[in-house]
Amino acid sequence: MHYISTRGHAPKKNFLEVLTSGLAADGGLYVPSEWPIVSRETIQSWKELSYTDLAVEVMLPFTGGMLDKPTLKRLVDKSYAVFRDEDIVPLRPLEDGHYVLELFHGPTLAFKDVALQFLGNLLEYELKQRDEHIVIIGATSGDTGSAAISGVLGCEHIQLFMLYPHLRVSEVQRRQMTTIDAGNIHNLAVGDPGNFDDCQDMVKHMFRHPEFMGETKLVAVNSINWVRILAQIVYYFYAALKLGAPAQKVSFSVPTGNFGDIFAGYVAKKMGLPIDRLVVATNRNDILDRCIRANDYRKEGVQPSFSPSMDIQISSNFERLLFDAYAQDAGKIRQLMDGFKADGKLTIAPEVMAQIQHDFVSLATDDDQTVEVMKQVYDAHGYVVDPHTATGVRAAWEYKQEDVPMVTLATAHAAKFPDVTERALGFRPELPAHLADLFNLPEHFTNVPNRLDAVQEWIKRHTA
Ligand SMILES: *Cc1c(COP(=O)(O)O)cnc(C)c1O
Repeated sequence: MHYISTRGHAPKKNFLEVLTSGLAADGGLYVPSEWPIVSRETIQSWKELSYTDLAVEVMLPFTGGMLDKPTLKRLVDKSYAVFRDEDIVPLRPLEDGHYVLELFHGPTLAFKDVALQFLGNLLEYELKQRDEHIVIIGATSGDTGSAAISGVLGCEHIQLFMLYPHLRVSEVQRRQMTTIDAGNIHNLAVGDPGNFDDCQDMVKHMFRHPEFMGETKLVAVNSINWVRILAQIVYYFYAALKLGAPAQKVSFSVPTGNFGDIFAGYVAKKMGLPIDRLVVATNRNDILDRCIRANDYRKEGVQPSFSPSMDIQISSNFERLLFDAYAQDAGKIRQLMDGFKADGKLTIAPEVMAQIQHDFVSLATDDDQTVEVMKQVYDAHGYVVDPHTATGVRAAWEYKQEDVPMVTLATAHAAKFPDVTERALGFRPELPAHLADLFNLPEHFTNVPNRLDAVQEWIKRHTA
C-alpha cells in the first residue's frame, strides 16, 4: 500500500510520509493507491470488537506495514481514552429505523476530535522516532481550531499556530481555544475585526511558500491530511455492525462541508461494508447538493448560516471522490481542476455522474428549516440536536427507506451553538462538566495585524 496524488505529478509516498505532508507538490491530494478489500467473513468476525479494537483492524491495512499492530493499538487506546462515553461514539435510536451516531463526546464536543486526537498522538509518536520538530499552521472559523489544539496539546515536537478572525468567532468556540494554557499552542487573533477568508488565504500562502520557515517542516491538519479521513472510516463500520451488517445494508446521512467525513463513508463502502445510500446534507451553501442533483458544481460566495462549520465555498475532498470515480485518471483530474480554477465551475462526464449518483443522494437545508427540525426532534423525542446534525436529520427523513436502517451522524454537541439552540428550543443547553469553567478561565491569545509579513514574523519568532 502506498499513496498517490490525485493529480499524478507528485512523488508517491508511504503512510508516514503522507502523515507529515499537506497538499501534494502538484496541488493534488494524497489517496491510497488501492482500497483494501475486507471480506464478508472478516466483517462478520469484527462484530463483537470494542471501538478501539475495531479501529486497529480497520486502519492497519492502510499503514502499509509502516506501523506495527501493538503500536497502533497503543495510539488508538490513548486517543479514545479521553472520550466521555464508554462506547466512544454511542448509537442512539431516534425513531423507527432511524439512529443517531453521537460523535461529539470528545474533548471539544465535535466529531473532529475522533480524527484529531488520533492524528496528534500519531504525529507525536512519529516525530519522536525521527527526532524531528514540526510546525502546524491552521486557520479556523470554528470547530477545527479547538479540536486541533486539543489533539496536539503538550506535544514536545509540535508548535501549533492557529489563526482566527478577531471578534468573528463565537464566544464558546473562541474560549475553547484561548482558555488552553500550553507552551506549544499559539492563538493568533487576526485583524480588528478580522475575516476568516484572510486567515485562510494567509495559511494557504504559507504552505505554498514555506521558505520563510527555513528547515522547519510545515504540516497541515485540515482534512486534506489523509489520516483524518482514515480515523473516520472506523465509525461507519462500528455503526453498521451494530445494525446487522454484513447481512444487513445500512444508509448514512452526513452533515457535509469539506466532504471529508462523508468521503470516509465512501471508503468504507469501497472496502466492502454494505452501505446502501450516502446522503450528503448541506446548508444553504449547497455546491455539493447542486452537484449531486444537477451536475452543477459551481463556486458561489460563502453565506453565513446557523451551521457555520459547513459554510464552505469549495469542497476540497471532493477531488478525492472524482479521482476514484474517474478510475484514477490523474490527467482528467488536472484538466477538471484547472478548468474549475479558471471558470469557477466543473462539469462531470455523464457516465461518471451516474456512478456518483448511484452512491450518493443529497439535500440542502436552510436556516429556517434547521430551526424547525431541531424543534420537531425535541418535541417528538425530547432529544437535542445541534444545527449541523439537524441538516442531517432532515436529509435522513427525505431518503429513509422502509427496510434499510438510516444513521444520521451527529457532528456536534448543541452546547457549542447556544444561540441557535435557544432560538429553536427556548433554552441554552448546558456545557458538559469538563467545560463548565469555560466562561471563567483566563484567555491566552495574541492580537496580530491582518498582514502576512506580520503573521510570518510572529510565527518565526515563536518557533524554538
Ligand atoms: C467540520 C464539521 C462538519 C463538516 O465536516 P466535513 O468533513 O468538512 O464535511 C459538519 N459538522 C460539524 C459540527 C463540523 O465541525
